[in-house]
Amino acid sequence: MLWRIGLLSAHPDFSDRPHLFFRVSLAAAMAEASRQARPHCEGGRRASGVCPGIAVEGPEEDPPMQTPTAVIKAGLLINGTGARPERNMALIIEGRKIADVRPTASLSNLGDMVTVYDFPQLTVMPGMIDTHDHLAHLGLDVKQRMNTPPSLAVLQTGRWATDTLMIGITSFRDAAGVDLGLKMAVEQGVIPGPRLFISLVIITQTGGHGDLMQPCGLSSDFPRLPGVPDGAADGVDACRRKVREVVRLGADCIKIATTGGVGSPRGGPMTRQFTLDELRAMVDEAHAAGKPVMVHAHGGDGLKMCLQVGVDSIEHAALAEPRDLERMAELGIWLVPTLSVTQRMKEWLERDPQSLPAYIAAKLPGVFDVQRRNFKKALECGVKIAMGTDAGALGHAQNTKELVYMVEAGMTPMQSILASTRMGAELLGMGDSLGTLEPGRLADLVMIDGDPLSDIAVVADPDRVKLVMKNGIVYKMPVPQGARVLEPKVRA
Ligand SMILES: [Zn+2]
Repeated sequence: MLWRIGLLSAHPDFSDRPHLFFRVSLAAAMAEASRQARPHCEGGRRASGVCPGIAVEGPEEDPPMQTPTAVIKAGLLINGTGARPERNMALIIEGRKIADVRPTASLSNLGDMVTVYDFPQLTVMPGMIDTHDHLAHLGLDVKQRMNTPPSLAVLQTGRWATDTLMIGITSFRDAAGVDLGLKMAVEQGVIPGPRLFISLVIITQTGGHGDLMQPCGLSSDFPRLPGVPDGAADGVDACRRKVREVVRLGADCIKIATTGGVGSPRGGPMTRQFTLDELRAMVDEAHAAGKPVMVHAHGGDGLKMCLQVGVDSIEHAALAEPRDLERMAELGIWLVPTLSVTQRMKEWLERDPQSLPAYIAAKLPGVFDVQRRNFKKALECGVKIAMGTDAGALGHAQNTKELVYMVEAGMTPMQSILASTRMGAELLGMGDSLGTLEPGRLADLVMIDGDPLSDIAVVADPDRVKLVMKNGIVYKMPVPQGARVLEPKVRA
């Protein structure tokens, strides 16, 4: 399949047959599907039973080589380890993995069955990872959601998965909303999309951040699929049971809210939700099932209790105190900052004060600046930071702008790239197989027009993301001059 894609791209008549370009996506999805038919599962570290009908325990064996070798030649290599970038390097791809990385000048005798992606003007770096997305989020407009039938919502979500892959996000963790079916659709090649890790729902106390019950007595949590449970639980036993229920429905991680938020009507970001005993029980139950715990917490006692019970990551932490951040660093608890969502809310409100609910307009000023100061403080005291956006609440397929916001808030471009590649992979428990471009790693990569180390904005420009490869399969690639692009258009 890859070999044919290479021939198409090199074909002199390609510019007259623009429909062939779109077939890259279709061919890639078919390649994914044919792999699924063989006894292995994308990602390689799924627990038994997560992939339908397939029992895979621990690191999988490589399938026998079915696809020809591909070679990626790039002008600049940023390999995601933090090492100095190197010029004129080549990656040898065998099947799903990177077999070798070496200077382009040292390549010889590639053979006839090799697809060569020769782009000396482009930068290659690992595919980016968003560790906090809400792909199934239809937006904050309740009336619009009421007018969205479930089937339309599912198809839109699939489209957003493809859009998100095309901007260079090759893996993401969904922080509530996506059910197991979408993940299976990507793994089975039904739709092109990033590698998914799902939490299904926010486990919330009654009336908490994730409880969408409205004063009228109806929930605004619609359309909701049967594979996404109600997230409300109260009391230690019910909290344990809720974690088990979410695990039963296929969650890769457990999402809990222990404070209020900006985007929810009840309680502020410093309001504690759940008790210490409830949280301890949920973390214990999740870890017993081998699932990491991600906690929505902004500050105050709801954040402090996370530091006592061994949660894996704290999302937002916008109002954390300096001592909280120091403890996070000491304990190795990850921070997922999600600067994108407050940035976008601010922009919307500046443009139109009526564009968001009044409670968001009231809470945002108390969070925006201190969140950015805390980001810098977290960086200084050595908290592990992984990129996350809260996409969904701010629209879709704009995730890569987070790299720009992280640089504006104090990171170097290299730090923001590492937070979005190697660190994200570590947080997902895939640090030994994803996130860097080294021999033996899965071949997830992007090729960018420009040097992100001198201008980070180039990674956030979808038009500059010229090639996207996931699992050794090309989903997006440059089009010859003059050809009309028929790929799904990424929203502005
Ligand atoms: Zn979120």
